Parts: sequence; C-alpha cells; structure tokens
Amino acid sequence: MSGVRVRFCPSPTGNLHVGNVRTALFNWAYARHTGGTFVFRVEDTDAARDSEDSYAGLLESLRWLGLDWDEGPEVGGEHGPYRQSERSAVYTGAVAQLLDSGRAYLCYSTTEEVEQRRRAAGIEGGPTGYDNYCRDLTREQVDAYVAQGRKPVVRFRMPDEPIVFDDLVRGEIRFEAEHVPDYVVVRANGQPLYTLTNPVDDATMGITHVLRGEDLLSSTPRQIPLHHALVELGLSAGEVPRYGHLPFVLGPGNKKLSKRDPGGGLLTYRERGFLPEGLLNYLALLGWSIGGDREFFGLAEMGEVFDVTRVNPNPAQFDLKKAEAVNGQHVRSLDPADLARRLVPYLQTRGALGAEPIEAELALLTQAAPLVQERMTVLAEGADMLRFLFAGDADFRIDDADRTTTLDAVGLDVVRAAHASLAGLPTWDTPSIEAALRTRLIEQLGLKPRHAFGPVRVAVTGARVSPPLFESMELLGRERSLARLEAALRG
Ligand code: GLU
Repeated sequence: MSGVRVRFCPSPTGNLHVGNVRTALFNWAYARHTGGTFVFRVEDTDAARDSEDSYAGLLESLRWLGLDWDEGPEVGGEHGPYRQSERSAVYTGAVAQLLDSGRAYLCYSTTEEVEQRRRAAGIEGGPTGYDNYCRDLTREQVDAYVAQGRKPVVRFRMPDEPIVFDDLVRGEIRFEAEHVPDYVVVRANGQPLYTLTNPVDDATMGITHVLRGEDLLSSTPRQIPLHHALVELGLSAGEVPRYGHLPFVLGPGNKKLSKRDPGGGLLTYRERGFLPEGLLNYLALLGWSIGGDREFFGLAEMGEVFDVTRVNPNPAQFDLKKAEAVNGQHVRSLDPADLARRLVPYLQTRGALGAEPIEAELALLTQAAPLVQERMTVLAEGADMLRFLFAGDADFRIDDADRTTTLDAVGLDVVRAAHASLAGLPTWDTPSIEAALRTRLIEQLGLKPRHAFGPVRVAVTGARVSPPLFESMELLGRERSLARLEAALRG
C-alpha cells in the first residue's frame, strides 16, 4: 500500500445522488490508482436528520456499485470506529486540547450583539459574519456572561493572514482573512459540528487527500488551519491533507443536483436498470476523460489510470440519454448468462418470476437474453420486453392501447390466419414459424410485414415492442403461442 489515504464520508440523510456517487468513484479510483487506501466514513452527527435506513442504504449502494472500501463500517480498520456517532470521545478530547492550547475559545456573543457591534462600528457593507469579539475576553466579562446563565459556543481561532492552498483540481486558491472569521466548532448545547468532526476525523484517520464536491470549497480555508493545529497538538495521524474540489454535476436546466430532487437518487437509477459499471462509466466522464475519444471503459481500468490532477474544474452536465447510451454499451458487452442473471430482479419486481426462479425459467431467460440485448439500454426495458415469456395463461395481459390499435377486426383476421398456418406445423422452430407466417400472411394474403406481424406480435407478446417475433414464439413454445393467439381471438 502507498501512503495515499482518501475517504468518502456521506451523511445518512437520504439517498446518494449521482454527484455523491461520482465523488465516491473518484476517491475510490484515486486510491486504486495510487495503491492507497479508500476509507469509508459515515458522518452521522445530526441525530434529527440521520436515519438507520439511510445508513443501510449507503452501504448497500456502495456495495451494489462495487466501490469496495479498505476501511470503514463492516470492514473495520485501525482508525475506527468509522461512524461519527461512535466517536464522541475523539471530539471531546480534541476540543479540550484546542481550548487548553488557546487555539479555540469560548464565545458568548449572540447574533444580535454581533450585528449591533457591527452597526456601532459603522462597518456595514464590509465582510459579514462574526467579528472575533470573544477572542480575548477578560475574566470579569466571562464571569458576567456566566452569571447571566449564558451557554458558550466553542470557536476556532483563525490565523490573521490569508489562507492560500494549491487545489489539486483548481490550482491556487486564496481566501482573505477577513472573509473567514473565527467559526463555531461546538454548539452551546455541547454538540460538535461538521466543522469540527470532519477535519478531526480526516486528521486522526491520516487522510492525505480530500477529494470532494465544489460545494464544500468554502469550508476548506477553515479546515486547513484547524488541521495545522491538530498536527501541532499531536492529534493528527499524518500531515495536513491536500484538497481537490470536484466540479458540480448539473441536472436539467443547469440546476445543481440535490439528493432531495425526486428521481435524483442512486436507487432510481438502479430501478431503471442501470448496471453499476454502466452508471459509473458515465459518471467518470463528468469531469474526467480516460484519454483519446474513449467513452467506454470498466471500473478496473479506470482504477488503473485515474489521476485527480487531470479532472476538469468546469461544471459537468448530467445527461440521462447519454448515461443510458453508455449503459447500453455495457449491456451489450455482457455474456447472455450474465445478462440473464442481472435481469432476474427486474422480472421479479414485475411479477414475472417468483422469489426463487426454477432452473427451467433461468435457462429460458438465458436463451432469451440475446434477443433483447441489442434493443435495450437499461435492464427495465429488457424485463418489460421479456416478461411475456414467463406469464402463465391466467396472468398474461395485452397492453390496452396496443390491443385497441392493433387487434381490431382486421388485426384479428390476421391472427386467425396466423393460427391456421401454425397449428399443424411439423417442426416448431424459428425458420419454420417464419416460413409459415410469411407464406400465409405476406405471399397469400398480400399483407405488408407490419400489418402481418404486428397483430401476431401483440397477441403473443402483449405489446407492439418486443423481441424478434419468430424467435420469441420458438422460445414460448407451440402450445403457449397457439393458446395466446386463441385468447386474443376470444378478446
Ligand atoms: N458529510 C459531508 C457531506 O456529505 C462530507 C463533506 C466532505 O467530504 O468533507 O457533504
């Protein structure tokens, strides 16, 4: 293992959105590329918003994606525990040392008092925020506040000089001191805030590179001096980390994606039938390129070559159509047995397969999978097209709209003719079915292929969009195919 240690540290407050997943992916890939360590930490310090369901969902999501972590929940590691809710002692200890060393102090000011002082000093219009007033309170002032029953917050004392750092993605970034006043790290009720727990964990876990979304750029000038303090106090397992801020992922209308957007969560993509490798491949393209014009690659390959310094700082646009097209390429590269295996859950949620599919159903699915492989980009489409194969006579349904447009009187005449031509067929295979239908419907009745095969397709598969008809009928078998034509004729 190299010395590189990166982390992915979501809060369990909802589903991951694709922007978070891209952050996880870039961290994972950077760890793999450098032979480093990928740490997974859960930032569950907000009891009001965190939930166990969401925590379980985070683990399930990362496992489904195949982003395996080297340290973290369920895996362990020498810097654990990896849930912030189990690390209170670490934070209490750090706060005590920060206070003792004078790097943090108790602050009794209310927001109104800060405003008042600002107005009195006539500095309206200047940088807003806290005025560092409580930095050097006298003993008497403190006693007076305590006597009033005020509960202090803890503030970290910022250096009075600009914070300049070399962002791995954006190059040099500079924040002037007056824009980053002393900030609260512990609430008046004693609860440590993200502003403390996140850098303390990065320090105690020896994180070397913090790669995270651009939305967190404004916390970095606060965190860097805190890191320096932690290193000096001997609380850090390493040096001050390097930072790299990844570009925003924008959704439709150039709006920032949020996990509160309906449909923005990772699980929606899974329900649509994205393959994890397809989704990750697409997300990798948001801000990064593997080189040349290549847009199709696997996770392992990305892990070999990913370098964060080649990430493009400009915002990236999430385009669902493009994502599906990339996913479609991954679908086409699967072998039939693998594609079949991946379709199983989607057929189960559609009621086409039971909880434990039998051998014969799986064999049928493996034969059928290549029929839809070229016609789908996401697994849900494949399952929609194949469910007809598994429906029993009682639960087979024809799509209402397709029945109306296709199985009118003329369509039913076609179905009747098709049934007559197929009923006595000596061999039930694709070429024989095709030959019989072509002879009867096209040559003898003079129908156009669309008018000939459309009604048969709807009767047999239940919809106008289906896998190739003759192959489908072969797989469905003689008896069931004829029974469906008969059922369509009965209406
Ligand atoms: N828990 C924070 C979030 O989900 C992590 C921020 C960070 O990566 O530093 O936004």
